[in-house]
Amino acid sequence: MNLKNRAALSTRVIHAGQDPDLATGAVVPPLYTATTYVQDGIGKNRGFDYSRSGNPTRQRVEACLADLENAAAAFVFPSGLSAAATMLATLQPGARILAHEDLYGGVYRLLAQVSPAMSGNTVDFVDFSDTDAVAAAAPGADLLWFETPSNPLLKVVDIEAVARIARKAGAVSVCDSTFASPCGQLPLDFGIDVVMHSATKFLGGHSDLLGGVLSVSDRAPQGLADRIHYLQNALGAVMTPSDCALLMRSLRTLALRVERQSATATRLARMLSERREELGVVQVIYPGLPDHPGHHIAARQMANFGALISLRLAGDLARVERVLTSTRLFLFAVSLGSVESLIQHPASLTHAAVAPQHRDRIDIGQNLIRLSVGCEAPEDLEQDIVHALTGHS
Ligand SMILES: *Cc1c(COP(=O)(O)O)cnc(C)c1O
Repeated sequence: MNLKNRAALSTRVIHAGQDPDLATGAVVPPLYTATTYVQDGIGKNRGFDYSRSGNPTRQRVEACLADLENAAAAFVFPSGLSAAATMLATLQPGARILAHEDLYGGVYRLLAQVSPAMSGNTVDFVDFSDTDAVAAAAPGADLLWFETPSNPLLKVVDIEAVARIARKAGAVSVCDSTFASPCGQLPLDFGIDVVMHSATKFLGGHSDLLGGVLSVSDRAPQGLADRIHYLQNALGAVMTPSDCALLMRSLRTLALRVERQSATATRLARMLSERREELGVVQVIYPGLPDHPGHHIAARQMANFGALISLRLAGDLARVERVLTSTRLFLFAVSLGSVESLIQHPASLTHAAVAPQHRDRIDIGQNLIRLSVGCEAPEDLEQDIVHALTGHS
């Protein structure tokens, strides 16, 4: 079922790529675990020969994801980082990469350490929320890589402006849209070439599966989607069929979950911001707050403001640790986007792989904590975080 541009996302998550099974009428697409397929003759088969090269369950979830993202094609990988690594493998050795200075720690490590050592690539980091700085640094770049909202500072990047800069420089543009999910923003509609997701986060949504996605625009450089498809097989970076089925099941509630999570996050961010002084909070960072520097851009390019809130706390490290360990519903654990709320400490967890000087430069201090708002009742979450911040409810 091709629902592109015809149905709302909340309908497409339930129907795209999910036609009932032709043979049996099963409403839920079957899970094909076979690794190999009978050949009808030399060079003759029914579309499949070996499961790394192609699998019907994977095809289904890839079709659904491509539809959601308004992409020409989508490819799933065993983790977000393997999706990112496969994207980097499309570059010629010695390529020049321009990347956002605020990135998920593992992607930063891949760009700053692994890719230069393996492929001789050079990487420059600039603040992508400053589009003039991006325009000045882009000439000569082969790839522009950014996240929006970014991790953990929730900086908002003007997607359309960056897409234009990339096109002018002849560079491929990649937007890691993990923090927004397709229900929050559709970067390909703004001219981006490739959208990346860690499916481990909102797409999976239940903290029980690792995965990654690359979705390629029909306006991307010719041959790029084929090259990614080729490398997915050649590098062996494929999601298992059972994880593909689990991901498909999770996508069916994506719109519901994100809508709820974002509405609760907006409510919590407002409350925390209003009661800053009493709660010992120095700064509330949330793109939905009018004082966020990227608020207007976010309002223009996003369907909602997402489920992530970052806080700078007053007090010393002992107080920060007390807050992290005294919530009852917000679990002190890394990751985000799941139905259960999480609280984490970027300097020691998600961004431990980032060089301390780089952390200092972009201001990821010891007093920064990040909340991922889940699907629990908003009033319970509010009580939980207030209790942790004040020591009483
Ligand atoms: C988690 C995450 C990744 C890495 O994905 P994995 O599935 O953990 O490999 C990449 N980018 C962002 C923004 C993330 O949050």
